[in-house]
Amino acid sequence: MASSAKARKTEGADVAATVSPTRAKTQGADATATPVATHEVFYVCKYTPLELLRGFGAKVTLAEPDVDSFDEADALSHPNLCGYGKGLICRLIEPDVHEVVLVSCCDVIRRVYDVLVEHGGYDFLYLLELPHRTGEREVALYRERLEALAQAYAAYTGTTFNAGAALAELEQPLPAHGPHVELLGAHAGPALIDAVASSLGTRVENGTCTGPRRLPSAPRSLARAEREGNCEACEVAAEAAADASSDTSLDAFLDWYAGALLHQTPCMRMADISERNELSQDATGIIYHTMKFCDYYGFEYASLMRQTETPIVKVETDGTSQSAGQLRTRLEAFGETIGTRSTGGHLEKEASMRVTDTDGRTLVLGIDLGSTSTKIVIMDGNRSIVTRAIIPTGARAAQAAEKGEAEVLRNAGITPDAIACRISTGYGRDGAQNMNSSVTEITCHARGARYLKSDVRTIIDIGGQDSKVIHLDESGAVSNFVMNDKCAAGTGRFLEAMARVLEMSLDEFCEVGLSWSHDVRITSMCTVFAESEVVSLVAENTPTPDIIHGLDMSVARKVTTLAKRVGAEPPYLMTGGVAQNEGVVQALGEVLGAPVDTHPDSQLCGAIGAALLGLDSLGVA
Ligand code: ADP
Repeated sequence: MASSAKARKTEGADVAATVSPTRAKTQGADATATPVATHEVFYVCKYTPLELLRGFGAKVTLAEPDVDSFDEADALSHPNLCGYGKGLICRLIEPDVHEVVLVSCCDVIRRVYDVLVEHGGYDFLYLLELPHRTGEREVALYRERLEALAQAYAAYTGTTFNAGAALAELEQPLPAHGPHVELLGAHAGPALIDAVASSLGTRVENGTCTGPRRLPSAPRSLARAEREGNCEACEVAAEAAADASSDTSLDAFLDWYAGALLHQTPCMRMADISERNELSQDATGIIYHTMKFCDYYGFEYASLMRQTETPIVKVETDGTSQSAGQLRTRLEAFGETIGTRSTGGHLEKEASMRVTDTDGRTLVLGIDLGSTSTKIVIMDGNRSIVTRAIIPTGARAAQAAEKGEAEVLRNAGITPDAIACRISTGYGRDGAQNMNSSVTEITCHARGARYLKSDVRTIIDIGGQDSKVIHLDESGAVSNFVMNDKCAAGTGRFLEAMARVLEMSLDEFCEVGLSWSHDVRITSMCTVFAESEVVSLVAENTPTPDIIHGLDMSVARKVTTLAKRVGAEPPYLMTGGVAQNEGVVQALGEVLGAPVDTHPDSQLCGAIGAALLGLDSLGVA
């Protein structure tokens, strides 16, 4: 264990936290009374002895990172620290934080502790060493360490331990039952939990290290203390509380508590995590959360993937709110896949079969508000496309939606009131007004792709700013999907940037690339580095068609890496605007080792899927 007080770095097994004299005085007045919580300890890990700290009158608060940028943490720490570590530093250097108890559950927390020690200014800063096994020896060791923490905190606060206060809020939630989605993996803050709950439309159980702790009941001998603390989670009847054998000393408490704390449902960093698998057994789905720059959870995800039959999706966050949009799409698409979220069956705004055009046709509108272009189709009750349009999305999705709808209505010669149902999809789907429902592009592409190619099993969608691979089961339902939305590599934007470097229009770029004769390997995935590679190849007089083919192949390799992650298999259909780039389609076929089909309406696939879901919701057979 190690501890620090104020700006001093005081580490080592026998060093207790220094008592802040002011606080010691205020707390020391009536040491035997139930302590009043004027101390607030910030903590991180579920192995933190919250009950012990409460027994000394502390209020315990989970430190939740909530930041837009890591500038402050970057100035204090190594830039390679994971997003969670940086977020924690940002939170724990806030002026309202005076007392911190960290647990050495992973190296990042040790680094955070070092940074806080260096930063200084805390009244009580303590690092509790956590054994990573739960055998008898480890329990005894943890007991010793908890006792040392107790002594340090008692000295600092000037209070004595009160078992009643310690046990008053003993958390004992019942294990999850009934329909729910289990959130597993790395630390999940309130923002992620809210995003999961609102995107999935079902109850979410937080099985990450910030979830509820399931400690066993306190033993009979601590019963009296529990009753004093008004705890309802006692395993013995009230009369046992008066038992003369009751022992509410710190020693008696620790004898029980060290084992109870260590034997709770293990976190990912414990040596034996087999018990964790039980968490997801009766779940409808599993959201597995990993943190950028943390490789550790990838192992558990991979093994869970192999073991579980439950649908599972991996989401990665970076500790900031920056990727909220992409995260929402992943979560909503997962909800649509496992059926906890509507795909148009329950419309947000009622659609009516009674609405027809002047010819008595039932017409629906599907609109895909992509990051680059907005695609709109009007479809009739026979599932025939009446009209279609593609316009640039521009800065505002709402305006693009209005403009796009006006264009297709004009083309079809109908007025807005002739549309029975409107469904939006795509990155800007919530920006469109007057929609009956919005559905993710994953579900819409799946639906649209079967319309364009009835036997498709894998959809490769390469758009302006992202690429996706969606694997379908035999019935056409989404069985797995993966998105690359973090960088331009493997997207239309990458190819557009390269066309600019070669001073060509996109059409010219696509056409010239088809007459290549020699393989040129572009190794950089990053747009910036690939640009320098292209400039060097031009300087070396490499034929332009060969350079373009090299670029097409680099996109194909990047997307194939994604495809492998979802078990992609033929027949393949390519959708999205880049499906019009024949060079990329051919390169994909080469890398995947199977032909990749396209369709003249490939770019409209999402909008077509949205329109079909509109017809479904109207009950059109
Ligand atoms: P999003 O849905 O992300 O807006 P789209 O699926 O509409 O993207 O695809 C847009 C991208 O498709 C453009 O950025 C462009 O790179 C590419 N694209 C569009 N038309 C063509 C074309 N005729 N030839 C080659 N690429 C095209």
